[in-house]
Amino acid sequence: MAEEYDYNSMWEGLGMDVQAHEGLLAAVGGMYQSMFLTQQNRPESTSYLDFVATNLHSGRIREMLDARNEGTTKKVIGTFCLYVPEEIITAAGAVEVGLCAGADWAPQEAEKYVPRNTCPLIKGFMGFKLARVCPYIESADLVVGENTCDGKKKAYEQFGQLKPTFVMDVPHVRNEDTRQQWRHEVRRLAERIQQETGQKITVDSLRAAIKLANNKRRALQRLDATRAADPVPISGLDSLLTVQAAFMDDSARLTNAINRMADECEKRVTAGTGVAPKGAKRILYTGTPMAVPNWKLFNIIEKAGGVVVGEECCTGSRYYKDLVDETGETLDELYDAIADRYLNIQCAIFTPNEGRKEDVIRMAREQHADGILDCSLQFCTIYDMESFGMEKAAEEAGIPYLHLTTDYSGEDEGQLKTRIEAFLEMI
Ligand code: SF4
Ligand code: SF4
Repeated sequence: MAEEYDYNSMWEGLGMDVQAHEGLLAAVGGMYQSMFLTQQNRPESTSYLDFVATNLHSGRIREMLDARNEGTTKKVIGTFCLYVPEEIITAAGAVEVGLCAGADWAPQEAEKYVPRNTCPLIKGFMGFKLARVCPYIESADLVVGENTCDGKKKAYEQFGQLKPTFVMDVPHVRNEDTRQQWRHEVRRLAERIQQETGQKITVDSLRAAIKLANNKRRALQRLDATRAADPVPISGLDSLLTVQAAFMDDSARLTNAINRMADECEKRVTAGTGVAPKGAKRILYTGTPMAVPNWKLFNIIEKAGGVVVGEECCTGSRYYKDLVDETGETLDELYDAIADRYLNIQCAIFTPNEGRKEDVIRMAREQHADGILDCSLQFCTIYDMESFGMEKAAEEAGIPYLHLTTDYSGEDEGQLKTRIEAFLEMI
């Protein structure tokens, strides 16, 4: 008989609020049931996502903690942003986890540290920490933050009082000076992580870490390419969760699972099998990231008969579209290759940020999107600001465009549904 593992003791050992955590799991489980498990014609290989949904707050944490206790993983390092290079963390023998904050939790507690009109993502991670409901935050030996938007930059000053935090300085313009500054910053991270783990990064360990991350990106690129077909073989919801899982699950297991999903989706494309009917309205998403369990928007689009065929965001193509050059022969060459790849992420914190608009239009064309949906989380000034230029770029390209602002509550669901249905009707 399978051993019954005592997860409650594990949560208590991490200092978590067991009862509140159970409440969070029940809420997320209910959402998964009603949003994912009601989808028709899902590829069979998406059973991996069902495994992820149940394993992320149980077996995966146990696996990470066991590895740390056994010494196969030195430390657990939490990150919040795509600019933090996972290769550096892996090469120093640590495991990297993305710290999701895709739900409102303990907002009153969070508002003791950040203003009420702070974006939900920031408020979410403060609330998760203060309420002690996130096993990833509690497992992390060190959190790596970054000076990106003003909200995050200042929130880490507060968060740093609650958890050991190292903040990377991300430039906001791209030129030769800032490239050198960023290359230096990547080395500063490497120093800090090696100090944390007590393990030296070598040419071999860094090259292996680069290959591991690149293989994950290649698998995601394969899966993404199948979504250009009509009918689309896999839903936007399942594709989004695949990238969300990439921030948390073991890289090798995840890469194998995504390759299996890509194999099946390629066969479905050849056979003309879709998750949505041929001719379903195709949406390209762009905007702020969607951390687990922020599935609200995609669920509304797809339940309304549309299908999301691509995501230009940090929980989408920005995560996997560019590889790190694997050919460097020295540590310096490999560090520079990593820095250069990450500096090319098209986040709205940069000015100018023309590359993001070019990516959105290119992706809309490649994925044969009928419309672009640009969504910002409430109080996210930089993405809201960029929506004006994005609308103009879409207009010039002749692609219908809709901008929305939302938060993590369910309060605006009716209003979003009305606007999205009207948009789908119009295109
Ligand atoms: S949107 Fe910008 S700040 Fe936010 S996670 Fe992505 S890269 Fe980082
Ligand atoms: S959504 Fe906007 S305001 Fe919120 S953390 Fe990301 S960049 Fe900052």
